[in-house]
Amino acid sequence: MKLSKTVVCKLKPSTEDFEKLLSTIEAFRDACNYISKVAFERRVFNPVALHHMVYRETRQEFNLPANLAIRARDRVAKAYKQRRNKLLKFTKLSMDLDERLFRLIYKPDGIHASISTVQKRVKPPLDIGDYQRKLLEDARPTHVVLVYRDKQFFLHITVKREIPEPKGSNPIGVDIGMNNLLVASNGFKVKGKSILKKRRCFRELRSSLQSKGTKSAKRRLKRLSKKERRWVNTVLHQVSRKFVSALKKGDVVVMEKLTGIRNRAKHRKSQNGDFHSWSFRKLQSYIEYKALEKGIPVVYVNPRNTSKTCPRCGHIDRANRRTQPLFRCIRCGFQHNADYVASLNLSKLELAQLGQAPVNVPNVGMNDDFGIIHYDSPTSPQAYSRG
Ligand SMILES: [Zn+2]
Repeated sequence: MKLSKTVVCKLKPSTEDFEKLLSTIEAFRDACNYISKVAFERRVFNPVALHHMVYRETRQEFNLPANLAIRARDRVAKAYKQRRNKLLKFTKLSMDLDERLFRLIYKPDGIHASISTVQKRVKPPLDIGDYQRKLLEDARPTHVVLVYRDKQFFLHITVKREIPEPKGSNPIGVDIGMNNLLVASNGFKVKGKSILKKRRCFRELRSSLQSKGTKSAKRRLKRLSKKERRWVNTVLHQVSRKFVSALKKGDVVVMEKLTGIRNRAKHRKSQNGDFHSWSFRKLQSYIEYKALEKGIPVVYVNPRNTSKTCPRCGHIDRANRRTQPLFRCIRCGFQHNADYVASLNLSKLELAQLGQAPVNVPNVGMNDDFGIIHYDSPTSPQAYSRG
């Protein structure tokens, strides 16, 4: 089966090329905003119909190469697919590239990117390590985005790779939650305390900046939340990597479909709940990706009753859950950490549902649902689905 991966590569352009790239990516953003205005005012969102209205103007006004004009139109049309009740504005500097606009060049001194600009083509070298080089060598890019962030250019190159068909029959339930970030039925466990503590630090810093309300405080606030997001991502990558490397051949990862998590987080403030469901989903997707890379299947099951069911006698009762961390069966007395019990139940659910959900057909649709892109490094920036 094939697995997509997005490799983030820093560019090392000369000063001259830097200027060309910058004016091009700015022109692309401005073109998107122009096209967006036309589309919204005339209520035309179909890419072909829109093309006739904006193509010539986009090329003349913004000096864009033909294919960049098309990419801008496509980006706008795609963005309006989700909502049409508001004029969409494009603020971030990012630009879609296709095979007419972008190509990798393999030179003795390393890999270069050839990119069309509003002037001539530029061919800056990629500033990458061995790991990224290897990923780029044996694959063709399927999707490429140029991103300008923190005064630097990055290419987000999505490549498809052939991976072994996932196979396995030994279910490992994975419970993800707040007290314990991850508890698995094979005994693997990551506590959530230090993470909660660090998040509290971030939150305190944030609220003190918010109360200041000055311009510089706002700037620092923005930087801070970026920093926090990056930190969370790093942690999630580390945790998922550790967990997946502890898996054995023949294992099947069983995780819960994350709809119930909101209910479980009910007693928390909603803002926190959002953060958690976001990071929980992300952790699941990282686990899924890393497991599939290793040929380990991943299935998602409905977590109904996993926190109330006794794994020994099967008795289902809310009263089994003595406290947040403790499970004790009121019928047979079985007692264990509640998160571990949930992970055990998840693995059993998978055994019970084997007939309906074949193990060797993993549910990989999940990533698409949440628009999560997998980056090669934990410090990589967020996905750019629209400008
Ligand atoms: Zn029991």
